[in-house]
Amino acid sequence: MIFSKDSRATSWVESANDSQYPIQNLPYGVFSNSGSSPRVGVALGDQVVDLCALHEAGLFSETSVGSENVFANDALNDFMAMGVEAWRSVRRQLVALLIAERTTDACDVAIEPNTTLREDAGLREKALVTRANVQMHLPSRVGNFVDFYSSKEHATNIGSMFRDPSNPLLPNWVHIPIGYNGRSSSVVVSGTDIVRPSGQTKADAAESPTFGPCRLLDIELEIGFLTGPANKLGSPIPADKAADHLFGMVLVNDWSARDIQKWEYVPLGPFLGKSFATSVSPWVVSLDALAPFRVAQPKQDPPVLPYLRTDGDWGFDIDLRVHLKTATMSEGDTICRTNFKYMYWTIAQQLIHQASNGTNVEPGDLYGSGTVSGPTPDSYGSLIELCWKGTKPIKLSSGEERKFLADGDTVILSGCCHAPNYQVGFGKVCGTVTPAR
Ligand code: MN
Repeated sequence: MIFSKDSRATSWVESANDSQYPIQNLPYGVFSNSGSSPRVGVALGDQVVDLCALHEAGLFSETSVGSENVFANDALNDFMAMGVEAWRSVRRQLVALLIAERTTDACDVAIEPNTTLREDAGLREKALVTRANVQMHLPSRVGNFVDFYSSKEHATNIGSMFRDPSNPLLPNWVHIPIGYNGRSSSVVVSGTDIVRPSGQTKADAAESPTFGPCRLLDIELEIGFLTGPANKLGSPIPADKAADHLFGMVLVNDWSARDIQKWEYVPLGPFLGKSFATSVSPWVVSLDALAPFRVAQPKQDPPVLPYLRTDGDWGFDIDLRVHLKTATMSEGDTICRTNFKYMYWTIAQQLIHQASNGTNVEPGDLYGSGTVSGPTPDSYGSLIELCWKGTKPIKLSSGEERKFLADGDTVILSGCCHAPNYQVGFGKVCGTVTPAR
């Protein structure tokens, strides 16, 4: 169920139209309200559509999700495991239930409205929940968290600062989507406070290291994807099957302790400087909702090895922003504007590469893209780049300056795709820094 880029389709839930969550989006999340147990819903305007209630009402009986209520669940993993046919049948049914009138805006086929929900006040009462009143949870139980390093601009900036400005990229960077297998237990949903980590650091001039609160706390603006069905241990995912394993995308703030990272990361790469917290946005935007916003990825030169070659466009035109709000500010300042389309390595290549040695991807795994940095200094997705290793502090509208994060600072990442007549929004991922314990 892929809408065309110039779709004008609307929902009878009027708040959906002109919102970040129109009928063309329908992102999945896990929510609860007034003490109820968490369950699966989709965002639609200022409402959450309760899929658990729709399943109980028998409205998914014609889809391929089966008779057991996969939406009466505190995580999307079981639904993710069902695969692309189930995801598409549910999306098609939701569009039919929620669309205002017959449409031919979909690229594949005309959609006839199903008025069952619209005309049943009792069911509407149960299945439409005001979004402002719900609590959002992590969308999946993240068994495995992987973080890549896929922006050439970011890798070049970091390589220039920490290694050699005349030769910032290691020779493998253009051949391998560089990444590391991270820590899933500290993946948290948007709104969770971030406790400043402590760790071992060593100042350049000091002879020996000390242990204490991180002084160079940073963000990383990333997009993450969540995976669908598993591959069998020992069986790689071939390039032409990557799409079958991609459920959807979220915003990711991969909090980073630069002073801890700098001292520990040679020779093995990121460890405690990265593993204390990773925040994700609660609404998972499906690949079908993002399909109208596919663009060609940057040209890869030299050509990649055959196992990493994919067909079609794997770039995504997603506008991204970083807001920083200190404890004294009532509104944040925008400190970065960038776009996901700049990423050199694609989400398909990240997945293919990870599974190329036969490791098993599981439903609900989280893959961070790595910091999304664009070509200009205002499009860098981390403070260490925006402030160039602390040499160019950001002047905020409150009169304050920042090189790295202070206690009480709130960081808000947002993302949105823009079509002529609608938007597909990611919402936000936010977190506030609290003092070290
Ligand atoms: Mn990262």
